[in-house]
Amino acid sequence: MKDEIISYRQMCDAENVQTLQRGMNYRLNPNYTVILMSQRRNAPYTDSILPDGLTIEYEGHDTPKTSSKINPKAVNQPRITKSGKLTQNGLFAAAVDDYKADKRNPEIVRAYEKIFPGVWSEKGFFRLIDYNYINIKNRKVFRFFLEETEVDFNINGLSENKLRQRTRIIPSQVKKIVWERDKGSCVICGATDELHFDHDLPYSKGGTSITPNNVRILCARHNLQKSDKIE
Ligand SMILES: [Zn+2]
Repeated sequence: MKDEIISYRQMCDAENVQTLQRGMNYRLNPNYTVILMSQRRNAPYTDSILPDGLTIEYEGHDTPKTSSKINPKAVNQPRITKSGKLTQNGLFAAAVDDYKADKRNPEIVRAYEKIFPGVWSEKGFFRLIDYNYINIKNRKVFRFFLEETEVDFNINGLSENKLRQRTRIIPSQVKKIVWERDKGSCVICGATDELHFDHDLPYSKGGTSITPNNVRILCARHNLQKSDKIE
């Protein structure tokens, strides 16, 4: 899974919007949907990257808090609005239903993860392949499943990228410690843009468990130089 560190502004610029507030943004781009996820403990929803490192489990969203009488966490996550339009949950679910009924290809979703305030990680592109609508604590909640796909986006639209390496997930807690230790810059040249969290033992070489000691921040240039050396 891709893991490029970007600022909030870079994320908005990449999606051509002034602000990105909502977590679920069906067809924000004519070619794809955008989700913002968080695995932080205080996050409003329960999102996670599954242990396979390839799948995101993403929680649907609550009904908006429109009056003090309704606690959004106490009622079902809605599929349609009061006026009968599909909510973001409904749009995502319909995309899965149509895909499973062979009426369309899976929706392509670009995912960004909040690492801590102002700092995001671009996770790359995923296929929206499944969902559940299940009872959790006396209400119904959507759980969407997104599977990593080797797709990149450029001016020509979406295209497959078979060259991209699959990398092991670095836990958010480790990232936070590393970010503070390396002062948000490449440990070799001090660059502060196009940064990546680099795990010094590649997964393919049977890397050890991931701790702050074997993770560091590298810019794109030094990250590339490093992978040249290994091959
Ligand atoms: Zn560098």
